[in-house]
Amino acid sequence: MKGAGPPREGVATIFRIWGIPVRVHVSWLVIFGLIAWSLSVGYFPERLPDLPLLAHWASGLLAALLLFVSVLLHELSHSVVARRCGIPVSGITLHVFGGVSQLEREPERPGVEIAVAVVGPLTSFAIAAVVALAYALLGPPEAPAAIMRYLVLVNVLVGAFNLVPGFPLDGGRLLRALLWKVKGDLAWASRMASLAGSVFAFLLIGAGVFRALSGEFLGGLWFVLIGLFLRQAAEGSYQQLLLQRVLGRLSVRDAMTSEVIHVPTDLSVAHLVEEFFWAHHVSSFPVLDGGRVVGIISLRQLKEVPRERWAETPVRDLMLPLAGPLMATPGDSLWEAFEKLSRNGLGRLAVVEDGRLVGYLSMKDVIHLIAVST
Ligand SMILES: [Zn+2]
Repeated sequence: MKGAGPPREGVATIFRIWGIPVRVHVSWLVIFGLIAWSLSVGYFPERLPDLPLLAHWASGLLAALLLFVSVLLHELSHSVVARRCGIPVSGITLHVFGGVSQLEREPERPGVEIAVAVVGPLTSFAIAAVVALAYALLGPPEAPAAIMRYLVLVNVLVGAFNLVPGFPLDGGRLLRALLWKVKGDLAWASRMASLAGSVFAFLLIGAGVFRALSGEFLGGLWFVLIGLFLRQAAEGSYQQLLLQRVLGRLSVRDAMTSEVIHVPTDLSVAHLVEEFFWAHHVSSFPVLDGGRVVGIISLRQLKEVPRERWAETPVRDLMLPLAGPLMATPGDSLWEAFEKLSRNGLGRLAVVEDGRLVGYLSMKDVIHLIAVST
């Protein structure tokens, strides 16, 4: 599965591979524990009844870890092909039922989308095939044999599940690319593929409820959870896609405010509050030093200094120094700027050209522009 957009909450980066950060969603830790546990008390004791408890747990942990590696390889394959096709990848996040590769933009042609989508399931099937071949050639002892059989099974399942034709699963991507190719209309193709994703999610939820009611409570609950997660992903990625399409066509210049009130670095905070914050009803100002932008001061930073010291504190000491996440150039795509705005904690960007301030961009500017252009 693939998606775009900023990382969400509850996600931690665990390591980097080829410069791609691999993040884990908290839900994955729970799932990892559940899988290791269910393998250790269910799958392995059944298949290896003669081995001690410790061997069951060791096998369970190892098998869960190898499942993790398998899902990671599946996602890495998407990322590698995306990069080959010129699409930057900002990270991989492992989720409840697999992973998501965060592509920084959507593929521009159906062919690219097909290549990026299809390689994931192919990788899962290839892992299954390699493990099955090794199994056949090596004839391994009991415990490794059970782990290998498990790996073949889960990789086939991961590959097959991801081929289900509902966006944002890989199969949904393929469906979208095919519809896109046929009709030449990406928005329509996305809508149809997302709809298929929602339908599949409802089917899963329905099947889960049925399973739960007919006695298989845990198995049923599992289906329901995956279904809910998938439905949310189907809707979320479609809305994000629409937004990305609208904003990707526009540049920062189109949305920014050009008449910007700014403040000098040596202004005292007391003056800043009286003459700027009170007078202009805005919550932040770019800070200029001899014509060059050096930072942004917002109401939030005022809390860092007690009121009685405002008269002697210059803005320079409190401002957020200008850095990548706080600035954009007029020619940057509005989508890129929007992502910065939603991540930088300020909701503002200084628009800078050759070190000079040429505009100011707020989330409100972007939302206004979306409202008038859709
Ligand atoms: Zn995939």
